Order: sequence, then C-alpha cells, then structure tokens
Amino acid sequence: MRQILVLVILIGVGGCWRGECRKDNLSPLRVIAININEIDIGDAHLIITPGGKTMLIDAGLGTYGTNVILPFLRSHGINRIDWMMASHMHDDHFGGMAEIIMADDIEVGKVLWSTLPNKLMEQRESMYAQDSKKLIEGIRQACAQQYVPIEEVAAGHEMMLGDGVVGRVYAAAEADINVPNYINNNSIIMRLEYKNFSMLFTGDAGFEEENRLLEKGFDVRSDVLKIAHHAGAGSTGENWISEVGAKTGIAQMPKWLSSDERGLRVYNQLTAAGMKIYRTWEHGNIEIKSDGEGFTVITSK
Ligand SMILES: [Zn+2]
Repeated sequence: MRQILVLVILIGVGGCWRGECRKDNLSPLRVIAININEIDIGDAHLIITPGGKTMLIDAGLGTYGTNVILPFLRSHGINRIDWMMASHMHDDHFGGMAEIIMADDIEVGKVLWSTLPNKLMEQRESMYAQDSKKLIEGIRQACAQQYVPIEEVAAGHEMMLGDGVVGRVYAAAEADINVPNYINNNSIIMRLEYKNFSMLFTGDAGFEEENRLLEKGFDVRSDVLKIAHHAGAGSTGENWISEVGAKTGIAQMPKWLSSDERGLRVYNQLTAAGMKIYRTWEHGNIEIKSDGEGFTVITSK
C-alpha cells in the first residue's frame, strides 16, 4: 500500500520518474552523437530540446542515412526533424539527408545549410566538387518534392530552438576566402547554449577557420566540444584547445583514424589538456544530457 502511495506522489509531481525530470518539469536538453562510424568517417548529431524540438546536424554518408539514422529515429519514436542542418558540403556530412527528407514517416521542418558557389568549389577543391554539387542538387529536389523550405545560414544567426535553447552561429561559409581544404574551412561553427551549458559544433573546420574565429574574438569557451574533422588531420590547434577549454569532447570517428598519426596527435593534445574524449567507434552512441547547469554523458557501449 505504501509503495502504491509513493508511486502516485511521484507521478503527481509532474510525471517525473527516476530523476529524468526536474522541478520545473522540463526534460533535459539532449545531444546524441549517432554512431555511424563502425567503418567510415561521418557525422550525425541529434539535438532534442527540453520542449521536444529536434535538430539534426549532419546525416553521414547516403547509406548511413538509410541504414542507421532513419532506424535510430524510428526506434526513438521521432517522427519529425524540425531543423536539419548540414555543417558543410562534404558527403560524409550531408550525404544521407535526401533519404531522410524523402522518408514517408519522418517530417522535416526545414533544411539549413551554408552553400558555396559551384565555380569556387570546382576551382579550389576539384576532388570533391562534383560529388558536392550532385548532393546539393539531390537535396534541393527532395526538398521541392516534400515541400521542405531551405534556408541559408550565415555567421551571426541566432537560432531560437525554444525553452531558452539557442544555436549561435559563429561561422558559416565565406565564399571569398582562399584557404586550403576550402570546403572544410567553410564549416558552420555553432555554439549551442542552454542556460549555463554550452556545446560547440565545429563540422570539419580546420586550423584556418579556428584561427579566423579566434581573431574575431568570439567566446568559444564551451563545456563540450564536438571535435572537428573526426578528430583527425588539419584541425584542433593548440590555441583552439586552450580557448575552448572543454573538458569533454565527442569524436565521430572510425577506429582506424584514431590509431594513425593524425588521430593520435589530436587525442594526445586534447587529453594532455585535461579532456575526456568519447569516440563513437569505442563508445557507440554518445549522449549528453543537460539541465542547463551540469551535464552527464551516457554511452551505448
Ligand atoms: Zn567529415
């Protein structure tokens, strides 16, 4: 009898159960790095706001959109992505988007991206330009067919995701810059903020973009860092590490990248700076849960 009474009281206080809810009855902010890295490089981060809005940042390669991300969304009862954002125009980040847009049981509210002119992609990164152009066109067609609006993201945009969750866009494509790894160095960099919690999303931004941002004086300090470029070559410089100051990092990377010199350099520098690194190949799906003050990390393996 007493047990029944206790249960009733718990449910009565806003339906909270096992500490999942807080006093004000809001769910936590959740960020999940979906493990699409058993074999390949690729990013896919799902943000679920306290009010239940969803944002998918990147969707991996085409096959992962179909074989991993869609089943993941279905198994978590998610039938709507309010915002689907491509960090930049490489296939391991936006290759799976068209499949998700076309899925009959998942509604997409809006596609956000920051595109580069075809001509400049061809001139500065001929190796990937054809693939990128084809994917951009495929997503445009999927959006036209499903009546999904597309919006260009620019630096300075503030995305209001509800319940005080904000996505502050620090950097987006700047077509005119002439840098190596042109497409990576035009990644969207966004600081996700919820009260006192912050997480920095970096796409595949390289040293050049990190320095561009630091020179502009942005407040990049964050609790959690999405380690850029799969924690591999050409990203995550020493200044960047110390300015961001995150003690928790998430790397969407396959095992092979973590054991060669590119991955080891980043891993060693970050751990030396006191960061605990979670890697998808090692930890599976990696989830950050925050009530706006502290946060916890939950992994599937
Ligand atoms: Zn990538």
